[in-house]
Amino acid sequence: VDLVDQHCHGLLAGPFGGDAFAPYLTESEDPLPGGASWFDSPLGLAVRAVCAPLLGLPAHAAPQAYLERRAELGEAAVTRRMLGSTGIADYLVDTGIDGTLPLAELTAASGARAYPIVRLETLALQVLRDSGGAFDTAFAAALSTVDAVGVKSVAAYRYGLDLDPERPSPREVRAAAGTALRADRVADPVLLRHLLWAAVDRGLPVQVHTGFGDTDLTLHRADPALLTPFLRATRQAGTPIVLLHCYPYHRNAAYLAHAFPHVYADIGLTLNHTGPSAGTPLAEFLELAPFGKLLFSTDAYGPPELYATGAALFREHLDRVLAGWVERGACAAADATRITAMIGSTNARRLYAL
Ligand SMILES: [Zn+2]
Repeated sequence: VDLVDQHCHGLLAGPFGGDAFAPYLTESEDPLPGGASWFDSPLGLAVRAVCAPLLGLPAHAAPQAYLERRAELGEAAVTRRMLGSTGIADYLVDTGIDGTLPLAELTAASGARAYPIVRLETLALQVLRDSGGAFDTAFAAALSTVDAVGVKSVAAYRYGLDLDPERPSPREVRAAAGTALRADRVADPVLLRHLLWAAVDRGLPVQVHTGFGDTDLTLHRADPALLTPFLRATRQAGTPIVLLHCYPYHRNAAYLAHAFPHVYADIGLTLNHTGPSAGTPLAEFLELAPFGKLLFSTDAYGPPELYATGAALFREHLDRVLAGWVERGACAAADATRITAMIGSTNARRLYAL
């Protein structure tokens, strides 16, 4: 089946030779102590297993040999081979990180389509700097004109998901906007709530970072279950809320997708970073979530390898889990095929009206 990568961050220009590659195998900002390599991690193993053959090397080629082959081929050829292996037809790209290549480069290298996802906090900072005064109405106006298929919140990084679920008053928003403008950073919980409510009003799917990520976040405050009061409050509005990443709270995310009609869950980053063990969290997502609520993604950022591993791990492990169900007579083969297509692409096409 072709895939819709419903959450990724796009490519960086590189080059990713020598020590420049390994940092993209981790959410940590630090090198490992004692000269250890991030290649010796679940994602490192996945890169050697999946990507080495794409460069004409034996699977599991040593990191040094892999990086040498990479340098020999050049960044453009590596990118074409990696993206070409994925079967991804549509990329939904969070454009909120500075320095990533324009979407046109991703589409040129892949032959696929790409759509922007606007990061709420990034847009808010622009509006704050430009508008001064009435941030509440200025932000809604800016949001109404964005050309995107969805928006994304990084409130989990800036504060935590234990936010007051109520819509803040215009007076509260204006006071918080003044503080944020002076700090040049959108981290005030009142403002973060306002952005989420403005996004709900706008009606485009709202992606929310949950679970693990880099060390800016405090993990237990990124548990998606903390959003429960907000999900209750927004249920009537019906704007889709897409829980991203989720690990190790992917079972909580699966429950929320099960319980709330407007909640969806993304299984991306978890699969890349658990690598050989990806079948376990994937099976746990599938324990409870309705299959029409789960969405494939890679969360790829930086080198193109993360697209290749994300797609390969998804295909391999979903296939294994569903084949096990078919073998036990729990699921018809035709249903397994249908479920794969739903999670791989059709759920996302419907949700984002692609
Ligand atoms: Zn991400």
